Amino acid sequence: MHGDLWKHAPIHERKIGCGTELFSMACLHPYRIDTGRRGVEEPKMTRLQEIPWIRKDPIDLPTIRTRKVHGQPGRLNLYRLPWLRPLISSRWPQLLIRILALSGFLFTITAGLFGTLVGGHNFAIIFVWIAWWTALKLAFIPLGGRSWCSICPIPLPGEWLQRGGILITGKHRRGFNLHWPKQLRGSWMQSSSFLVLGMFSALTLTDPHVTGWVLLGLFGLATGLSLIFEKRAFCSYLCPIGGFSGMYAQTSPVEVRVIDKEICAGHKVKSCYQARPWGTYPVALRDSSACGLCMECLRACPENNLAVNLRPFGTDLGNKRMSSRLDEAFLALVMLGSVMAFTAIFTGPWGWLKTAAFEIGSKQWVFFVLGYLAINLLIFPGFFTLFVWLGQKTKQSRISLQQSIATKSQVLIPLGLMAWIAFTISFVLPKLSLILEVVNDPFGWGWHLLGIHSALPVVDVSAISMIIQAALLMVGFFWSARLSQKLTIGESKSLFRVNIPILSFNLIFTAIMLWLLVG
Ligand code: SF4
Ligand code: SF4
Repeated sequence: MHGDLWKHAPIHERKIGCGTELFSMACLHPYRIDTGRRGVEEPKMTRLQEIPWIRKDPIDLPTIRTRKVHGQPGRLNLYRLPWLRPLISSRWPQLLIRILALSGFLFTITAGLFGTLVGGHNFAIIFVWIAWWTALKLAFIPLGGRSWCSICPIPLPGEWLQRGGILITGKHRRGFNLHWPKQLRGSWMQSSSFLVLGMFSALTLTDPHVTGWVLLGLFGLATGLSLIFEKRAFCSYLCPIGGFSGMYAQTSPVEVRVIDKEICAGHKVKSCYQARPWGTYPVALRDSSACGLCMECLRACPENNLAVNLRPFGTDLGNKRMSSRLDEAFLALVMLGSVMAFTAIFTGPWGWLKTAAFEIGSKQWVFFVLGYLAINLLIFPGFFTLFVWLGQKTKQSRISLQQSIATKSQVLIPLGLMAWIAFTISFVLPKLSLILEVVNDPFGWGWHLLGIHSALPVVDVSAISMIIQAALLMVGFFWSARLSQKLTIGESKSLFRVNIPILSFNLIFTAIMLWLLVG
């Protein structure tokens, strides 16, 4: 029976954690409610597809019905706070922040393309790669998951055109509304776009013109794809920032979740699924990686059955994966390989490496790219597979190696997040004063908007910075070790022995990062 239900629930492929849940979720799938499947061919169903056969209630109407629903254990439903609820249920506050972000984004592109070529004096370089990149890793993701995606300006014009309106859906919707190709689903493309950015990272992070063109390219691509494909195809499958944020959002203490799945089972219209620009179905959310915190499902649900929960850190992690998909494991490994490579380039003492990464098109750069790709495509995936296989041998596991890799890759998430934060702290702290300087003179044209006439003093924080970095790497290691133990509970009596291979992988990674950062 499981198999039968599962077969018809492709939208849940990556959403369901355990057997019991699998059964109940499949029953809650829009296909299975009421009279079962109705006229949509299974292969055509995608994660981003609306349900064409259901009765379309106007989704822009405010919530009209309410029902007494209780919160979930271990969670604080922020949507029930009287002062916060109006700020979430109205689209205006979010729209105003997004318009502000869009203005800042366009200003950044202008500064990048027309401002000084000296990176340290250009708003685009300092604001994007020091201020925003730091805020993303130190605040947005660890405290709010994909909270940046909820205010990101990149998909805005495409979404407005697709919707035919800014606040509500209009009559003149634009675009072909095609389904994203099945072969390109998952996070493979996000990993690839991150790798491409990494190959050109030295130039992108230092040349304002390149940064300007990269931002413009992302903007154009997101808008163009919105006119071809349905919903947020760029965000779901291509955006490297989305891949990065989505993966580490699983550690964050914020989630949007359905409160009572029974209520959803009885609600045939599924207004939340129709309303969501990301095309995800809240009942099916297994973790927060695909939830862009747009809040549209909360606004659309007539049953008042969705919550914005505050929860313990890392709640999404530690469940065995039912599927054998490797795209998320690959993304996690690319993030580990990339943070190690970036640390070596930007904070290491090797001038030849910096030169090789910087001189795009030269012979040295080709060697640099080959090395970078070898780390990410061969060395990290190869070693991780080997260590997971060794762990399997130890406990005589009967699950497939692929499924084991998919499950065990969760330990890479806290390890990677802490490594990224430590790397960021290592190069950002000494450069914080530059943020004020570029606000004072965004284009490097000699303006004094804040009345600052000379360079601000740089405070030497290297000693405290090293202690913080070492502490963060340790937190990452012990967090991932604990997670690894949680994932093997019930599989063997000797938890430590079974975990030795994965612990060794994590330890080697942590030791190399320690050497690179504080060595
Ligand atoms: S996925 Fe990328 S483009 Fe989309 S909202 Fe998130 S950061 Fe912005
Ligand atoms: S969350 Fe609300 S709108 Fe969505 S299926 Fe459940 S009851 Fe219906």
